[in-house]
Amino acid sequence: MPTATPTPVQLRRPAALSAAEVDALNALFEAAHPTEIIRWATGTFGDELCLTTSFSDTLLIDLAVAVDPDIEVVFLDTGLHFAETLATLRRAMVRYELNLRVERPDPDAPDLFEVGTEACCASRKVAPLERALAGRRAWLSGLRRDDHVGRSHTPIIQVDRRGLVKVNPLAAWPAAEADAYVAEHGIVLNPLLAEGFGSVGCWPCTELPTPGSDARSGRWADSAKTECGIHL
Ligand code: SF4
Repeated sequence: MPTATPTPVQLRRPAALSAAEVDALNALFEAAHPTEIIRWATGTFGDELCLTTSFSDTLLIDLAVAVDPDIEVVFLDTGLHFAETLATLRRAMVRYELNLRVERPDPDAPDLFEVGTEACCASRKVAPLERALAGRRAWLSGLRRDDHVGRSHTPIIQVDRRGLVKVNPLAAWPAAEADAYVAEHGIVLNPLLAEGFGSVGCWPCTELPTPGSDARSGRWADSAKTECGIHL
């Protein structure tokens, strides 16, 4: 029986962990502090691990650089970020002396005004992330289960569609503990959070959330879209 031709993404590398190993790690880390999870990731993948951030805050960065000050921090500069987000990046650079990698879209990449949000995210977020992850075995993301109902089952460890290990150290961290860490450590926050934005993305696609709804309800508020594609 003929098999479907795998996409280039599927072919890029075999899974670095078996399904059984992923299950065991998730059970092990479900109640672990994020630092313990990050230590495992840096110890396992070394410089084949990077961290991605949108500079809504520096919580994951703060935790990660305490374990590995040289970890590569990837920022996807879509060209459509708020000035406050870029200011947060600059404050983070000063505080942490980050090993920062900025990935930008191709110069002729279309934007949402020409092609709509799906194609815009594909060219301005997903494609640059693919470049950033080339040659990596694993990446850290700041996904949290309480971000949005669609993220409520986010595992701590997973194998992504590329076959890379994706580590979400904050996924199961109780909000009260995370908030206490933010306050105690003076985590750098995007000023837009204080203005009521629950989640900060690109300016054309980010509004104040509807009162009583989840923090990400202001993202692509006029559509059914809830993710840009980098976490799918
Ligand atoms: S979030 Fe909006 S502006 Fe940013 S890449 Fe996606 S569609 Fe484009």
